[in-house]
Amino acid sequence: MSLQLGRRRLQAALRRGGTGPSVAIIGAGLSGLGMAVQLQRAGVEGFTIFEQAGGVGGTWRENTYPGSGCDVPTHLYSFSFSPKHDWTRRFAGQEEILGYAEDLVRSHGLGPHLRLGTGISAARFDEGVGCWRLETTTGEEVTADVLVAAVGQLNRPAVPDLEGLETFAGARFHSARWDHGVELEGREVVVIGNGASAIQFVPEIAPRVKALTIFQRSSNYVVPKPDRVYGPLARFIFERVLPLELLYRWWIYWSFESRWFAFREGSAMGRHLERRFGREVRGQLVSEDLPEAVLVPDYPLGCKRILISNDWFPALLRRNVRVETSPVALVTPGAVLTEDGARHRAEVLIFATGFDTTHFLAPITVAGTGGRTLAEAWSDGAEAHLGLTVPGFPNLFLLYGPNTNLGHNSILFMVERQIEYVLACLAELSRRGQGALEIRPEVAERSGRAVQERLARTAWAGSCQSWYKTASGRVTNNWPGFTVAYWAETLWPKMADFLPLAQDRPASRTPVG
Ligand code: NAP
Repeated sequence: MSLQLGRRRLQAALRRGGTGPSVAIIGAGLSGLGMAVQLQRAGVEGFTIFEQAGGVGGTWRENTYPGSGCDVPTHLYSFSFSPKHDWTRRFAGQEEILGYAEDLVRSHGLGPHLRLGTGISAARFDEGVGCWRLETTTGEEVTADVLVAAVGQLNRPAVPDLEGLETFAGARFHSARWDHGVELEGREVVVIGNGASAIQFVPEIAPRVKALTIFQRSSNYVVPKPDRVYGPLARFIFERVLPLELLYRWWIYWSFESRWFAFREGSAMGRHLERRFGREVRGQLVSEDLPEAVLVPDYPLGCKRILISNDWFPALLRRNVRVETSPVALVTPGAVLTEDGARHRAEVLIFATGFDTTHFLAPITVAGTGGRTLAEAWSDGAEAHLGLTVPGFPNLFLLYGPNTNLGHNSILFMVERQIEYVLACLAELSRRGQGALEIRPEVAERSGRAVQERLARTAWAGSCQSWYKTASGRVTNNWPGFTVAYWAETLWPKMADFLPLAQDRPASRTPVG
């Protein structure tokens, strides 16, 4: 799927001499590891991955809640340059994906480049030397020519500031920090939130708990999950008949890509799917306990992430499960009180309330030219040219940055494109004997405006609250089109889009260290 032009160009540049720029990668999730694999394969020696946690895998290391798994078929939710042939099922679970991340480290020999337990707290571009100076959470100062931020969009759990929460006497935790030491068997459990995480763990815990109350603020489109187990024969075929596996990957990719049509504002496909969803839910599920208003969203399909599950609705139908729509008024030591005056007993409180998604890179202070920080540059909402580069921040590249998230296809496809783009930029830096690449402000402004104009014509701009938007309603997270369009736009960085090298900025070569 990927031509790997960037990697080839970088390899060629390195063959002509030089070791390439030094690269510091923040984050050892799948994006950071993918970047490292491709740097390694291109022959760049001076790169380091800084990871604040004690292990790799990012979101797949953190989200260990029961039933955690991917909602994109994992033959596509994996790197084309490092495929895994023996996925045990179509939508693999968290442990298997975490194993894939750990295998990337093992099979590509990334161990010596990994600094676990070492976060980056601040980064400052040194204009005199033309390098990035990083402060680690362990108190060191580190320098690198190029900084690649691979921190993800869903890494800071958001817990609502509920009145009385500190008085709660039972156990409480966020779904992304699941406390496996808390016994749920026979307990009264309250879950706040009903998004992608909740719909995966609720069916798992519902049969075990005494009572489960789910606090729902708005409903979701939940569609069937076409999952299946890959038996030994399927895995043998994927392993031995590689063209077949590649064909399968392509088939998944294009069938997912075609879903983009449903995400355009007022699309006929979207309206058709909304009507079908409403019809099926009314026919099969609506009851006095689960009225239509609880089950059928009042916003356009796709405005929030479309969820896939075969066991969410059956879980809601259980006698020990209740959906509560009255907002939380107060938490007491043993209950959650709602605005309608009802009291819901609670021994365990689980927050499935998502993440702080719009403050990209927070809490790292990143200062570019003139000491201006990313937080200042993004005071009206984060944006970056192709989600990758920001004016005033030379040699800083973002993976899974602003406006590169998807609702219809595999995010790793986008990340692969971004890695290629970074490699092509590194090839250019190597060819020039280093220096710095900084996107022209007018180029970033033009592409940012185009992205926002296109977003205004998508389902995400619709009447819903979602993690794709800032409080003011600006969509900062999603890419507004086909991923194949992103592929074309990132195929090769146009050097004319970048500022010429400052005369007084020396070409540098700074080892990470
Ligand atoms: P989420 O989709 O943002 O859902 C958060 C839920 O909490 C929503 O139901 C939200 O209600 C509710 N909520 C938030 N603040 C609240 C408050 N103050 N009071 C009451 N309810 C509140 O978060 P998530 O479920 O963790 O999923 C986030 C994303 O992670 C997903 O969209 C997906 O991209 C990713 N994810 C992926 C998978 C996968 O299978 N690959 C699995 C899990 C997560 P509203 O909807 O009304 O805002």
